[in-house]
Amino acid sequence: MRLLVTILLVQGFVFSALAQNQTSYWQQHVDYAMEVDMDVETYQYTGTQKLVYTNNSPESLNRVYYHLYFNAFQPGSEMDMRLQSIVDPDERMVDENKKSRIAALNSSEIGYLHTETLTQDGNKVTFNEEGTVLVVNLASPIPPGGKTTFEMTFKGQVPVQIRRSGRNNKDGVALSMSQWYPKMAEYDFEGWHADPYIAREFHGVWGDFDVKLTIDKNYTVGGTGYLQNPQEIGHGYEDAGTSVKKQKGKKLTWHFKAPMVHDFMWAADPEYVHDVLQMKNGPTLHFLYKNDPKYAETWKAVQPLTEKAMNFFNKNIGEYPYEQYSVIQGGDGGMEYAMSTLITGGDKPGSVIGTMIHELAHSWFQHVLATNEAKHEWMDEGFTSFISALCSNKIREQGKENPFENSYKRYYDLVQSGKEQPQATHADRYDSNTPYGISAYSKGAIFLAQLGYVIGQDKLMETVKKYYADFKFKHPVPNDIKRTAEKVSGMELGWYLTDWTQTTNTIDYGIKKVSENGSETTITLERIGLMPMPLDILIVYADDTRETFYAPLRMMRGEKENPYPSIKRTVLEDWPWTNPNFEFTLSKPISSIKAIMVDPSLLMADVNPENNVWQAGE
Ligand SMILES: [Zn+2]
Repeated sequence: MRLLVTILLVQGFVFSALAQNQTSYWQQHVDYAMEVDMDVETYQYTGTQKLVYTNNSPESLNRVYYHLYFNAFQPGSEMDMRLQSIVDPDERMVDENKKSRIAALNSSEIGYLHTETLTQDGNKVTFNEEGTVLVVNLASPIPPGGKTTFEMTFKGQVPVQIRRSGRNNKDGVALSMSQWYPKMAEYDFEGWHADPYIAREFHGVWGDFDVKLTIDKNYTVGGTGYLQNPQEIGHGYEDAGTSVKKQKGKKLTWHFKAPMVHDFMWAADPEYVHDVLQMKNGPTLHFLYKNDPKYAETWKAVQPLTEKAMNFFNKNIGEYPYEQYSVIQGGDGGMEYAMSTLITGGDKPGSVIGTMIHELAHSWFQHVLATNEAKHEWMDEGFTSFISALCSNKIREQGKENPFENSYKRYYDLVQSGKEQPQATHADRYDSNTPYGISAYSKGAIFLAQLGYVIGQDKLMETVKKYYADFKFKHPVPNDIKRTAEKVSGMELGWYLTDWTQTTNTIDYGIKKVSENGSETTITLERIGLMPMPLDILIVYADDTRETFYAPLRMMRGEKENPYPSIKRTVLEDWPWTNPNFEFTLSKPISSIKAIMVDPSLLMADVNPENNVWQAGE
């Protein structure tokens, strides 16, 4: 009997230890050391990569996967096939006849990235290229908690600029080098994320990068990472007022280090102007742009606003954890990278400043929080759009009462079109590009703007800060933002996350009837849409006095504070979602009422605003 008890106790212990493992957070770790040699005449490069991989998962790994993104820029690639079959291809990626620009690339214009040799702890491994993904069968499994070292040689060719990376873009920038090196895919609690490069959105493993780049000495380089040898390199990186020793030979070797990043981008051009702005108690900002008078005004105007935006995000999200940020002309449109962004030149300051604010905001959501943006694009593009709209309104003094107005408009248009797909759709697998864009950016921004309506604006901003503080460098998932908002507000918000992000249920509440009962007035509201919401109702009387009523949603088990403290508010009974109608009575005659409005903030995304207003005499 005693023995049996002991066995049970031991088993019980093992079982609870396993259960612990399944719920506690872990993440993989990578340390890259790369040496790369770039030929600026042929746009070809060769490199070595030493990658120390730490398996912090509770599983043994028999395989690993690398991304070889440049292979997307070849006729017949998955990116090309998608471009040829989608109804609304990205205009930057097709010619004037809407034909794929990738399909037209010849062998000297395509991009490629090929692994030539690969070993694991000195032993050969077998590997196989499947388009943009390298599948590696390991020489020996990596046990839980184990470390292994991969050593690789690779060669690449920079594609003619099609999308994001590439050579000689429209602005004449020679090299926009994003997604250019063999990059270990992320393995997390959901398993491998070896997504092919089809269109967009990335997920990566954090680690430390040590990159030595050898390139023609006339080229100025910028990007991710701190330059380790500025006094040798010069090009505006040397200490102010010091002189740089002339180096022999045609090339220079730039040595960069970047701690705790999940990506490494660089750009280079022989005609870059390089300006430096040292923020007070903050990071150093670098600006690299073509030495052409048509860009000068814009790229000077961007500089003080980058500092202001950095300060705004530090204050409203949390501290930027790196000591450097670079705004670089290159790529197409704008794209965020670790400690940097690539933005096309633009002829007006406005659009470049707007893009800079958006891409800088990604530093918090894509690089430090680093949600898997292929799966949860709304948490990255949407939250970035939300905070950059607030930032633009403030630092550019736009004075918009609702800085998200445009997001709401685009979302309503999408609902009208009948082409909406749930936000939980993978970023590459929307039926077409437009619904993806609206769903990720606009409906994603509304997730937070409207959450402010549900839990209150102060609680929303507190949620954003706590979310960043609790989940930085941890790849948060949708439940994490929901739980954070729940902890801050004391409300239950599962209904909000589910309906908004996993379904296309819409919100439609209305004022059904306003009727007189002697000296009193009864207001009947109705729920028409499937998605539940709490309601704020504003009453404007004939003498222009105002009062509000608040009908909390029963399933949220809480109430927000009065959003209009200067106006008297009455909290009504909870509205259970199942009830199509809800009534309340005013102790005033109907003749004293001028107008009634549901949600005067317009932050509740009601797809039919017409039935939200009642006016006397109608
Ligand atoms: Zn973005």
